[in-house]
Amino acid sequence: MIYLDNAATTKPFKEILKNLSSWGEKYFGNPSSIYSIGQSSKSVIEKSRKFIAKTLNVSSEDIIFTSCATESNNTILKGIADISKTKNEIILSPFEHKSVLNTGKYLSRKGFKIKFVKIDKNGLIDIEDLKRKINSKTVLIGIIHVNNETGVIQDIKSIGKVAKEFDIPFFSDTVQSYIKEEIPTEYIDFLSVSGHKINAPKGIGFLKRNRSIDITPLLHGGGQEYGFRSGTENIIYIKALEKAVYIWIENREIFINKLYKLKRLFINGLKELIPDIKIVSEDVKTAPNIVNVIFPKIKAQDLILYLNSKNIFVSSGSACSSGSLQPSYVLLAYGFTEEETIRAVRFSFGVQNTEEDILTTLEEIKKGYTIVKRFLH
Ligand code: PLP
Repeated sequence: MIYLDNAATTKPFKEILKNLSSWGEKYFGNPSSIYSIGQSSKSVIEKSRKFIAKTLNVSSEDIIFTSCATESNNTILKGIADISKTKNEIILSPFEHKSVLNTGKYLSRKGFKIKFVKIDKNGLIDIEDLKRKINSKTVLIGIIHVNNETGVIQDIKSIGKVAKEFDIPFFSDTVQSYIKEEIPTEYIDFLSVSGHKINAPKGIGFLKRNRSIDITPLLHGGGQEYGFRSGTENIIYIKALEKAVYIWIENREIFINKLYKLKRLFINGLKELIPDIKIVSEDVKTAPNIVNVIFPKIKAQDLILYLNSKNIFVSSGSACSSGSLQPSYVLLAYGFTEEETIRAVRFSFGVQNTEEDILTTLEEIKKGYTIVKRFLH
């Protein structure tokens, strides 16, 4: 099996899978209980929180564990909206993840106005347009750091500086950038992270908050997580997340260099095979692990299914609904035509991939491309 869809999810590190049942045995006490086995669960959580906080240079109380980034994003947007008395405008990019865009849609039904900032053809947001869109009603600016379909990295520091200058809370979805890119946390009030993008299991994430902005929690109940996210903590997965972060931090340089090397090998090989491919946002810096390719004269779906038949897994940014491919809203926002988005395939590499994986994939693309090209004629 060759898995090249690491922006969708990653395979948990072996060291984590190996330990899950022993952590479950050891740390089953409820962290809210005052007796010793409860308190030992509590201390595991606090140790993990402290470790993760350090990776972002923030204090432990700023880190709130959640079940996933979707929950983090919902908490941040709805929480800010809830405390807003008179302001009712939120500025987002048009290429936010669905968990942000659809929360925005929900809030627009509650009377909020969602304004989308302009972007250029490479998918970078227009900072002057952002400034123009800010007014006395702006309650939040939310811009994703690294886009999950294209890998485009936003200049999050400059955006954060604008937010600070206008004294508006700034939120960034850092799901695809955490650890891989520098995150200027001093300019970001709220950010979201998902464990399963960095080789932890699915079902764990966190948010970083700015404690001076007292937003409403999404979940009310027993008051866990400083009263900000009630519900008995998922200790085993919090421990797993800490371990994944630890492995990433320990090997950061090796991992990042490896990912860039695999990506370069792939892009160069692909250009030799099919010279008229288009690499999305090739002129700007993109994440080490993501490349979005627009192939000439095929439907992405056909190539994806061909590769699937060879046990190679890649994806299309386009969502499949009712059996048909919908054009990717991200690529449409970048200015691509519907027809071009239907030809786009996303390859995303992981630290478990090898050069052999890339060479085999290129070999299969060579064979598969010739076959699927015929489907259009
Ligand atoms: N934000 C981005 C950029 C993502 O890529 C994803 C996952 O696809 C999410 C948010 C949602 O993450 P989760 O699966 O943890 O809810």
